[in-house]
Amino acid sequence: MAKNQIIVALILGLSFIMLLGIFSCKHKDARIKDRGSEAAGEDEYLPEANSEAADSSKAAGIKAEVKPGSTIANYKYTWTDSKDIPPVVIIIDDFGQTGGQLLTDFAALPREVSFAILPDLPKTTESGKLATANGHDVLIHLPMQALASGTSPGKRFIGTDTPAADIVAMLSDFHAQLPMAIATNNHMGSAATQNETVMNAVLDYLAANHMFFIDSATSGNRLAYNLAKSKGLRSLRRDMFLDVPDNTDATIAAKIQGLGKFAGRREPIVIITHCHNRDKLTALQKFIAQIQAMGVKLISVSQAQSMA
Ligand SMILES: [Zn+2]
Repeated sequence: MAKNQIIVALILGLSFIMLLGIFSCKHKDARIKDRGSEAAGEDEYLPEANSEAADSSKAAGIKAEVKPGSTIANYKYTWTDSKDIPPVVIIIDDFGQTGGQLLTDFAALPREVSFAILPDLPKTTESGKLATANGHDVLIHLPMQALASGTSPGKRFIGTDTPAADIVAMLSDFHAQLPMAIATNNHMGSAATQNETVMNAVLDYLAANHMFFIDSATSGNRLAYNLAKSKGLRSLRRDMFLDVPDNTDATIAAKIQGLGKFAGRREPIVIITHCHNRDKLTALQKFIAQIQAMGVKLISVSQAQSMA
C-alpha cells in the first residue's frame, strides 16, 4: 500500500515537473517570437514603459552564445565583415530638459551624432548652441500628436486637426528657437504623422526652408516618409531604437547583432536613442565604441542627406 502510494506520488511529481518544463519552454518560445515580429511601433516618449516594445524586434537574432556578464566586445556576433554594413546615423532625441554635466557629456560624443531638440523647453536654446559648438547637427524634434490618449507631446504640438496655417506658424516659431536646425524628426506623432493634410503642411514648410525630414517611425505607417519622398524631399526613416527595451549590455549587443540584417542596403541605418539619463549616454558610448571597433562608419545627418 505504502509502496503504491509512493509510486503514485512519484509519477504525479514527475508529471508536474514535466508540465512545468513544457510551459516554461513555450513561454521562452513566445518571447523569442515576439522579439522577432515587426509590429508597429508606438511613441517614444514614455521613458520607463516599454512603449517602443515593437522595436525589441531589433533585439532578435542575438545568438545563444551570449554569455551573461561578458562585455559587449566578447559577444559572438554572426556578422563580422563590416564592409557590407551601411553607415550608421545616430540621433539623440528629447533634448530640451537635460542640462548640466549630462548635457555637456552628451555634447562630447563624436560630432557625427546628431541632437534632436524639443522646442519650448528650458534648455532648448542652450542645447542647440552647445550642440553646434561641438560640431553636432541639430534637428527640431517636432512634438506631434500620439495615438495614445492622455499622453501630451508638449505645451504646443501639431495635432491631427491643427490647421495648416497654424502648423506653419508653429514650425517657424520652433525654427526661430533652433535656427541652426538642418532637419526635423517627429517626437511622438503616431497619430499626426499618419495624417496626409498635416504632413503636407509640415513637409512643405521643410522643403521651403531647405530642411530634411527624418521619420522617427513611431507608428508602422509609412505615409510621412513616402509623402516626403513623393515631394522630392530627402528623407530617412528610423530603423532602430537603441535604448529599447533597456540599456543593458545584452541589449546593446543585440542591437549590434541586428545591424547585420541591413547588410547590402544603400541607405544608412538610422538609430535613435534618448538623452533622459546617464545610463543612456553610457550605453550609447559603448555602442559607438564597439561598432567603430568593428569597422562600421558613423555619419552625420547632413552626410546622410546625400544618401537619402
Ligand atoms: Zn521624442
